[in-house]
Amino acid sequence: MELLDGRAVATAIKTRLKEETETFVAAGRRRPKLVAVLAGDNAASAAYVRNKERACAQAGFDSEVIRLPQDVTEDELLATVRRLNADSRVDGFIVQLPLPRHIRAQRILMAIDPAKDVDGFHPANFGRMALGLDGFIPATPYGILLLLEHYQIQTAGLEAVVLGRSHIVGLPMSILLAQKRSTGNATVTLVHSRTADLKAHTRRADLLIAAIGRPGFVTGDMVKPGAIVIDVGINRVKAPERKSGYRLSGDVDFDSVRTRAAYLTPVPGGVGPMTVAGLLMNTMKAYKRTVQGPR
Ligand code: NDP
Repeated sequence: MELLDGRAVATAIKTRLKEETETFVAAGRRRPKLVAVLAGDNAASAAYVRNKERACAQAGFDSEVIRLPQDVTEDELLATVRRLNADSRVDGFIVQLPLPRHIRAQRILMAIDPAKDVDGFHPANFGRMALGLDGFIPATPYGILLLLEHYQIQTAGLEAVVLGRSHIVGLPMSILLAQKRSTGNATVTLVHSRTADLKAHTRRADLLIAAIGRPGFVTGDMVKPGAIVIDVGINRVKAPERKSGYRLSGDVDFDSVRTRAAYLTPVPGGVGPMTVAGLLMNTMKAYKRTVQGPR
C-alpha cells in the first residue's frame, strides 16, 4: 500500500505558488490576498482558519481573518461580505462553515461575489463546475483531483464510489469524476444514508472516496483489494490520554483498510492539506484574473 502524502504534495504546490507570487511582486504588483471570515467560537473552525493563514504565508499571500462574535446578526455578516466584495485589494474570501445556528448560511453564501468565491460554494460557481465551465471548483474536491494528478493515478474507466452527498464534498466530487476530463471519465456511484446495501457498492469500487463524517466507518471488508481509497473525514474522537483531549480520525478505519488498498490517504496529512492547497490555487486564479484580466 502506498500512502498518498497530501502534506508533501500541498507543500510542493505552495512552493510553486510562492515562486509565482514573487515573480508578480518583482514586477511591481501587490501580493494575492485571501480573507477568512470566522463567526463564532467553533474550535475546529478556528483551527482550520489558522491553517489557512499559515498556508497563505507559505505561498507569499497576504491574509486576514475577520473574527465576528457568536451572536453576530445576519445583517452584520452580510455587511462584512459586501465590504469584502467591494474591496479591490481582496482577491478571494471565504466564510468559514458551520455558521452559528441562527444564521442562514445559504443567504450569506449567495451574497458573495462569485468572482471572489474561492470556496466555490456560490450557485454560479457550482453551476459552472457542473457544466465543465471555467470557475472555482470547491476546495476539497479540487484538492483531491490535484492529489490524484500528482500521483498520476488514471481515473478513466474506473468504478468510482463516492460516499456522502454534501454540497461541499461528495456531490461536486461525483460530478467532477464523471466528467470528460483528465482525472475524470470514471463511472460514478454516489451513495448516502438512504443507500440500500452500501457495502455492495463500496466493494466494487476501484476508487473509493469517503466523506460522511463517521470515524472509522469504512472497514477493510468494505474495500476491494487494490482500490484507491481517499479519506476525507476529519472527526474529533475523545482521547483522554492526549493533552488536547481528542485525536483526529478519518472516515476510514486505517488499520483494516491499509492491508487491502493499493493507495490510501492518511488522516491527518492527506486530504486536509490538499483542501488548503486547492483554496490557495483558487485564490491565485482570482488574483490573476484581476491583475491580468479574464482569459
Ligand atoms: P455532511 O455531514 O454535510 O454530509 C455527510 C454525508 O454523508 C451526507 O450525504 C450523509 O447522507 C452521508 N452519511 C452520513 N452517515 C452515513 C451513513 N452511516 N451511511 C451512509 N451515508 C452517510 O459532511 P461533509 O461532506 O461536510 O463532511 C464529511 C466529512 O469530511 C466530515 O468528517 C468533515 O469533517 C470532513 N471534511 C473534511 C474536509 C477536509 O479538508 N479534509 C473538508 C470538508 C469536510 P444524507 O445526505 O443521506 O444525510
